[in-house]
Amino acid sequence: MRTFGCQMNEHDSERISGLLEADGMAEANAMDEADVIVLNTCCIRENADNKLYAQLGQLKHLKKANPRLQIAVAGCLAQKDRDLIREKAGHVDVVFGTHNVHRAAELLTEARESGPIVEILEETAREDAAAFPSALPAKRESDFAAWVTIQIGCDNNCAFCIVPAVRGPEISREFAGLVTEVKALADVGVTEVTLLGQNVNSYGRDIQLARRQAGEDVRVRPLFGDLLRDVGAIDGIRRVRYTSPHPKDLRPETITAMAETDAVCEHLHFPLQAGSDRILAQMHRGYTGERFLEKLQEARAGVPDLAVTTDIIVGFPGETEDDFVRTLEVAAEARFDSAYTFVYSPRPGTEAAEWTDKFIPAEVTKDRMERLRTVIERSSRARHAERVGKTEIAAVFGPSKRDPDVMSGRTRQNKLVHFASDKPLKAGTYARVKIVDSGMHYLRGELLDITALPTHRTRIPVVSA
Ligand code: SF4
Repeated sequence: MRTFGCQMNEHDSERISGLLEADGMAEANAMDEADVIVLNTCCIRENADNKLYAQLGQLKHLKKANPRLQIAVAGCLAQKDRDLIREKAGHVDVVFGTHNVHRAAELLTEARESGPIVEILEETAREDAAAFPSALPAKRESDFAAWVTIQIGCDNNCAFCIVPAVRGPEISREFAGLVTEVKALADVGVTEVTLLGQNVNSYGRDIQLARRQAGEDVRVRPLFGDLLRDVGAIDGIRRVRYTSPHPKDLRPETITAMAETDAVCEHLHFPLQAGSDRILAQMHRGYTGERFLEKLQEARAGVPDLAVTTDIIVGFPGETEDDFVRTLEVAAEARFDSAYTFVYSPRPGTEAAEWTDKFIPAEVTKDRMERLRTVIERSSRARHAERVGKTEIAAVFGPSKRDPDVMSGRTRQNKLVHFASDKPLKAGTYARVKIVDSGMHYLRGELLDITALPTHRTRIPVVSA
């Protein structure tokens, strides 16, 4: 299983792996030992299609050496390119999209019996188990932390984004089913959940509108805050995170629920994208730079100690020097803890990709990117330095990559923290750590004590006789 792109894709991959394991497969140690290779693709990043076709080219010789090998291409790029994938790479056996992840195992079986298949659905099946990756069996990467998809698709139309085209309109999962799923995760020892959606804080809007259209007397009100409260109240759930919210839909009820629910972590990913009102309007983001900062201020006032991360695009078509300077100003005022910064690159099929006459030359975007990084690095360092002297709880995920005697974990603010421990701590341990030093991307701490041990059961592989 090879995954490209965002957490939603990684979560889909966990579900595809879970379905294949339920179908009797086991994870191969290496590509050249595999009988099935699934590439779960993304079309958000630059050159995603070139990278996919290059990778498929490399897989050709594996297919020659092992004619039993099946190659499947899934995900957003599959949804977009469809038959083109087999036209360009005839050795691909199965192409399936974002709306039929649940069919992964069946499609591979069908292709084994009757030849290559391209199956792309135009919209998501409405039944829970088919539509939502969380409702399918999963092979999770972590035993103590899990993703839960609460909503798929997006009703916005950001001019740079292909998501609405490849993931369809917003569909929310039923509230009760979600709570039941998180309870089941807690029962097997999961202590941290991340609620996933393209636009998580508009969760439930479609459910209530549908009920109103069906004649029920329903007041359309935000449900996301209620979900945070109910999931956060589940016994055993210590941490609730969510990603990604849209700034225009951040409601006071969500901020209050964050503040009043102990399990909800003090971290908000709040994608700015640009600071200039003119560019934000062209992006169809639905807020101005000033409004973004006001909402941020409201969130920080409501949730003490809130860490804020963001996404910013540099060089959106038509971005002038003045527009960019406004992005710098808003970013500086926002004092982000960290930011994912991207140079704009056109996604075929999106509105902004048509504005070729307004594309910004590479030397200009390079310069702007460097200036933006300086601003972000300044606030990252300062925000991390503010943690020094504080006591944080780290959820341990394992030894540090560089030094096995050093443990790594995440604080509630989602900051990476390293600390020495005289004995290894299992993933899922919660440890109290005094912060003694900081860098741009990490904190360094001293272990004070252990506050909770992992409770997840070690999985015993089921092998049929
Ligand atoms: S809100 Fe905008 S950027 Fe986010 S998924 Fe929807 S269209 Fe894309």
